Amino acid sequence: MIPQCAPQWRIRRFREAVDAAIEAVVAGGHYVLGPQVERFESSFANYLGVRHCIGVNSGTDALVLALKALGLGPGDEVITVSMSFCATALAILQVNAEPHFVDVDPCSRCMDLAQLEAAINPRTAAIIPVHLHGYPMAMGPLMALAERHGLAVVEDCAQAHGARRDGRAAGSWGLFAAFSFYPTKNLGCIGDGGAIVTNDAALASRARSLRQYGWHKGQRVSREAGFNSRLDELQAAVLHALLPFLDEGNRERADAAQHYQELLQGLPLTPPLQHPGAVHHQFAIATPQRDRLQNYLLRQEAISTAVHYADPIHMQPLFQRKRLWHLPETERLASQLLSLPIQPEVVQGRVPQIVAAIGRGLQQ
Ligand SMILES: *Cc1c(COP(=O)(O)O)cnc(C)c1O
Repeated sequence: MIPQCAPQWRIRRFREAVDAAIEAVVAGGHYVLGPQVERFESSFANYLGVRHCIGVNSGTDALVLALKALGLGPGDEVITVSMSFCATALAILQVNAEPHFVDVDPCSRCMDLAQLEAAINPRTAAIIPVHLHGYPMAMGPLMALAERHGLAVVEDCAQAHGARRDGRAAGSWGLFAAFSFYPTKNLGCIGDGGAIVTNDAALASRARSLRQYGWHKGQRVSREAGFNSRLDELQAAVLHALLPFLDEGNRERADAAQHYQELLQGLPLTPPLQHPGAVHHQFAIATPQRDRLQNYLLRQEAISTAVHYADPIHMQPLFQRKRLWHLPETERLASQLLSLPIQPEVVQGRVPQIVAAIGRGLQQ
């Protein structure tokens, strides 16, 4: 059986470093927001080339706190994509703002800039682009557009740890970026975890305050309705231990993706758009025979695949209340995308076997 994803295999691979990190925390006596969190925050900020990193409880919270720190609330509209994980849009509802969904570019499967520009209106306050499946969006033109209209940009980098384009890391462009360290992500811990990054000192300080009861600079008095969304020491220590291996893992993902690209040529399906700075959180092929192929691979070849995402956000009941959206590219991709195994510990040496199975499945 080939699993689509197996976070425990990555932990097993780096077990020594992970065990040492855990042991240090257990013995150390600081369990929530301590030296491990501070150390990880500064190493992750360094890695990305940004000034500030604030560890929080999850990727979802990272988005919520970023929007909150920007002062978004009722009456504000946030333009984002429906071709993403639901948390991207849930975060907008959490601050009582309204998501405005735009369609994606069929090649990159990321936000279509022409659609973005057409959607901007007087209520628009911010934009959340998503580097879907680790593909680095062209942020230069998006930032230029945002600046022209005075809009804040919060990058959803939950799938893009280490992705690069035009010499910059994904997450270093927007006013804020949100990362998730859920165990299956390219950099994942052994529980929930997330981070907000920014180059703006005042926004960083506001986000820091929001993650802990609205306290400000060590004073234990609440200045605003903050949250309890802290990264714990155990997760921070594990993340700090795994960060040095992130680039290696991303290179292995890129090698596997390249191998897939070569072997899949000639088959009636569309592979993902290639980019040297992509980090391949997923490797999703598009085919109208998606459901049949997925079933065949599982039943006949013992290969697990996944669908990201079968129900685009705009078609989920919560998001259809106020308005019916029509996003043809998103809907087409939602019916055709199939995520093949791409995690290095899973695909190593198995790409030819998986592609041969796909070839048989498409001939059925
Ligand atoms: C995983 C993910 C999130 C949410 O992260 P959590 O840590 O699970 O809260 C948000 N956006 C995208 C695109 C994701 O893939």
